Amino acid sequence: MANFHSPTAIFPVGYEATRIYWSTRVPNKRCRYRCRIGEDDGRPLFEVRVLEHGMEDLHYRDTTAEGIWDRIVQQVAKLRDDSSMLKLFTEHVKGEEMYGLTVHAVMRITESLPGVESCQNYQFRYGRHPLMELPLMINPTGSARSEPKVATQCKRPHTLNSTSVSKAYQSTFTGELNTPYSKQFVHSKSSQYRRLKTEWKNNVYLARSRIQGLGLYAAKDLEKHTMVIEYIGTVIRNEVANRREKIYESQNRGIYMFRINNEQVIDATLTGGPARYVNHSCAPNCVAEVVTFDKEDKIIIISSRRIPKGEELTYDYQFDFEDDQHKIPCHCGAWNCRKWMN
Ligand SMILES: [Zn+2]
Repeated sequence: MANFHSPTAIFPVGYEATRIYWSTRVPNKRCRYRCRIGEDDGRPLFEVRVLEHGMEDLHYRDTTAEGIWDRIVQQVAKLRDDSSMLKLFTEHVKGEEMYGLTVHAVMRITESLPGVESCQNYQFRYGRHPLMELPLMINPTGSARSEPKVATQCKRPHTLNSTSVSKAYQSTFTGELNTPYSKQFVHSKSSQYRRLKTEWKNNVYLARSRIQGLGLYAAKDLEKHTMVIEYIGTVIRNEVANRREKIYESQNRGIYMFRINNEQVIDATLTGGPARYVNHSCAPNCVAEVVTFDKEDKIIIISSRRIPKGEELTYDYQFDFEDDQHKIPCHCGAWNCRKWMN
């Protein structure tokens, strides 16, 4: 990561963006500049392909975004000069900007990428200062390199327990029916669940957590008792879960499992959805509940109070108590924080 950032931007390998900008060949015409970031010998390789109607593609390569865009801009400036057009103020065109790397929505994503902790000279706009980052144990980055070994020392801390079985949900559910704000709860649980299947993407976004690693945030205001997202993964039996856990540990992977009941566990390590990034808090704004649909147990993250847009989603992991050796510190920052997660 040391080479893949500047103080103002992070350069993810595989990044691609298209910029529409003045042509270097036809005066007063615009064309497409497809900007890419690749890797060459441990350093970023910036490449731009120019797509212009009726012309052969042009290629630019450089070790910096500036290197490419300075050349393009100089050529555009010269073309305008030659055709006696208004002068182009080239000094205002910055490579990283032309690449789209300083767009806020893009920065929010790049700052959430695994491994960004090691971007020493980068000024974070959304996440917290990288040096403040605490050991990632429950919510690891998913990258073996940036994940501390300590994760494997914790004896089974990964398997989450649900708050309660559907009963709790049912009672809150019916309790809401009479309030004036309960329109969305007039629908049956199963129709709510069906809607959740397509609508969860409007409820959440993934970003760098204020607690640790990545976190899931409310993408809009969420009313109390809203089904926010399903904890998706593969349903497996205990024995399989134990076996997989050992394999994952040997691969130094972040392990994401959620216990449904005494026999079954949802494994979200390889096949999970973003719900696995919801962090623990001692004062959570959501609950994780097992709800049965079509005879299948589903784990749904449900808001336990109104959550304003932009707030990080959390629930209580409810880990079993462990002895001192296997304690996991809690960094949720809540006023009533129990200091330990287990
Ligand atoms: Zn806490």
